Amino acid sequence: TDGLNTADALPANPAEVAPETDLMSKFDALINERERLLASGVTDPYAVVMEQVKSPTEAVIKGKDTILLGTYNYMGMTFDPDVIQAGKDALEKFGSGTNGSRMLNGTFHDHMEVEQALRDFYGVTGAIVFSTGYMANLGMISTLVGKGEYVILDADSHASIYDGCKQGNAEIVRFRHNSVEDLDKRLGRLPKEAGKLVVLEGVYSMLGDIAPLKEMVEVAKKHGAMVLSDEAHSMGFFGPNGRGVYEEQGLEGQVDFVVGTFSKSVGTVGGFCVSNHPKFEAIRLACRPYIFTASLPPSVVATAATSIRKLMHAHNKRAHLWENARTLHGGLKEMGFKLGTENPDSAIIAVILEDQVQGAMMWQALLEGGLYVNLARPPATPAGTFLLRCSLCAEHTAEQIQRVLGMFKAAGQAVGVIG
Ligand code: PMP
Repeated sequence: TDGLNTADALPANPAEVAPETDLMSKFDALINERERLLASGVTDPYAVVMEQVKSPTEAVIKGKDTILLGTYNYMGMTFDPDVIQAGKDALEKFGSGTNGSRMLNGTFHDHMEVEQALRDFYGVTGAIVFSTGYMANLGMISTLVGKGEYVILDADSHASIYDGCKQGNAEIVRFRHNSVEDLDKRLGRLPKEAGKLVVLEGVYSMLGDIAPLKEMVEVAKKHGAMVLSDEAHSMGFFGPNGRGVYEEQGLEGQVDFVVGTFSKSVGTVGGFCVSNHPKFEAIRLACRPYIFTASLPPSVVATAATSIRKLMHAHNKRAHLWENARTLHGGLKEMGFKLGTENPDSAIIAVILEDQVQGAMMWQALLEGGLYVNLARPPATPAGTFLLRCSLCAEHTAEQIQRVLGMFKAAGQAVGVIG
């Protein structure tokens, strides 16, 4: 390719110039696939812009009022007046950013506040905040298990869990999605004395199905493994205190590490791990994704702390969220859509489509009708499926859910997904 001012740097003899390998050519297949999809006339599902956000459930997209059914704003905290005020106060008092790592100059008053709010919310002794949930998994997994040790994960684990495994030096062992039997078998093959971490998720975010954590934790303990559960998609509305699926299944004190995020029910951005382990604080001294990056801005941690404390008393919201999940799941099932779960197991309801074209057409028909959902595709989805992922919010009104069902019916019939 043409370079700037490269003439002087070139060897005199052109034969000695190695041909340049274009590192970008590995993306050709992806580029072609995307161009084929756009040539079929659909809007790019991965280039949506929220021109205005009016509430946790409404935005303006392409100039049109749109119901949001594809955010992780499960508890609708993004517009809570106390949360917004806490952010404004922190912005004025502490400025816009921290300019550094938690280890050095980046720990402010509200970082301590949010870690205390987490300890109170989860009823634990230890809480460490990371800059995102992705980094919490990356950091915890790569730091907890090292050379000669084993990390055992569900095949459908989130990308951040896979990347945490890759970043560390432990041996990686996968088991079949949600299979207690396969987990038992694979753990049984590992050396008895070796360190082992079993990584599970409370809710699996693509299909919205939940893990049989009780049985899995029992199997893990039988084999002497420690357990980390990612409760990103359950915080706020599973279990008596909204701690997650592990709490709902009575596993308090048996899960060694719980990872979570502020980007879903909490309504801002950030990640964390909580634990009762007496040496938990040592993670701060050894964890690269905690140390070598800037800490969250004060306004973000202040909003998170306020939101977490309010979530402790959000029982009515929780009940309404579950009601919304039941109504949407029941309505879609009755219309004949193929869903990711038999029952409304969580606040995620996935509609399974035949292929990318059907998925994109249905997605576009919904958007044009005034409804935004997530279009999910491989490699994020299991078994090569194309999904329209609906995620409910406690702030969706019963009337909005009925409108959503009407939009699904119209789009499903227009595209030919249902009769
Ligand atoms: N874990 C799971 C299961 C997730 O679904 C996600 C994000 N979708 C994350 C972790 C990462 O969270 P964050 O958005 O805070 O990076």
